[in-house]
Amino acid sequence: MTKNGSLILVINCGSSSLKFALFPAGEQTPLMSGLAECLGEADARITAKINDAKTTEQLNGQGHAAALDVLLRILAEHDWLTSVKAVGHRMVHGGEAFKASVVVNQAILAEIEAHNNLAPLHNPANLLGIRTALAKMPEIPQVVVFDTAFHQTMPPAAYLYALPMALYREHGVRRYGFHGTSHRFVAEEAVRLLKLDPEDHGLVIAHLGNGGSATAVLNGKSVDTTMGMTPLEGLVMGTRSGDVDPGALIHLARNAGWDINEMDNVLNKKSGLLGISELSNDMRAIEGAAAEGHDGAKKALDVFVHRLARHIGGLATSLPRLDAVVFTGGIGENSSTVRKLTIDRLHVFGIALDDAANEATIRGKSGVISKGKGPLAVVIPTNEEWMIARDAAELAGLVAAH
Ligand code: ADP
Repeated sequence: MTKNGSLILVINCGSSSLKFALFPAGEQTPLMSGLAECLGEADARITAKINDAKTTEQLNGQGHAAALDVLLRILAEHDWLTSVKAVGHRMVHGGEAFKASVVVNQAILAEIEAHNNLAPLHNPANLLGIRTALAKMPEIPQVVVFDTAFHQTMPPAAYLYALPMALYREHGVRRYGFHGTSHRFVAEEAVRLLKLDPEDHGLVIAHLGNGGSATAVLNGKSVDTTMGMTPLEGLVMGTRSGDVDPGALIHLARNAGWDINEMDNVLNKKSGLLGISELSNDMRAIEGAAAEGHDGAKKALDVFVHRLARHIGGLATSLPRLDAVVFTGGIGENSSTVRKLTIDRLHVFGIALDDAANEATIRGKSGVISKGKGPLAVVIPTNEEWMIARDAAELAGLVAAH
């Protein structure tokens, strides 16, 4: 598949961080990966991992451009730089305009910029990554891969809110969904692993990381998902609330004087596992404390799995048939406890857990963790970076379209 040993650089640029990975075109394992963090702060640094060996370099308060300079120097030192033939960038929000990944040009950049108000925290940072890479590597195709694109196949019944339609027309208020690159990768892997018919299958995929969303996939296409206009809707997350009655916010505005900033801060940063447990946003800590009898941690775990099972059940109604429930993301790939508690709540679908397989399928392993004749429960580690690399390689014409 690989042509001329081409390499693909993947960049996921945040406001103060820049994650990167380098893939040989057509291959799923990176040659190098790493992270520049605390950019623009005194402690700015960049860490690169090559064959499990990590090296860290201080950036002395510098920002994204300096981080990219160091990254390009590291690539040159390993004789990789001249083989980089495409760069793939993660972009959080593409609105309705972007239904698939695209090669960047000035018009595309302007169109992406027009969506900044839909993801004011993320999109400008993602764009900064693209502009910086374009400035340093103007002759290399830059490909943008959107978190929202995979969900553009949702029907209006799934994406419309029951609000006045003028809000949709004039302000783009609708459900878009996120984590699309992960859901797309895991859906393809599930078809392969379970030998499903690509044209006839139904999956519910639960991507459970610090953020979390679940998606119903019918014959390879997203037909419903739990995240909405923003990544705040749906499941209980590390610090995000997921579903909340908007009436509660009206109540707090009227009775507790909450303004928009307070809502934003509490719903995004102080809620979820952290809010309920009053202890931690980290599932490992929650599980540990719950096992020792911490009341808040037990409640957080209960609400987390209740909401997850409830959403999986709801998503299944968008499918003619449920072949499998698939777990992915840090929690989905590693927490046999969350998987067990969730599957125990899905008896109505006839899913039965295989305890031994569930306990054994952790740390990057994939496999079936159910038994019996009902729908399968499955674990599949996600690989969003590779999916971005694949799109970039295909759109740059380095590998054949899959
Ligand atoms: P992100 O969304 O930032 O990419 P990850 O997919 O890495 O996050 O998921 C992070 C979450 O996975 C954290 O809540 C962490 O506690 C959880 N996690 C990782 N390993 C385990 C484990 N062994 N058991 C339970 N939870 C785990």
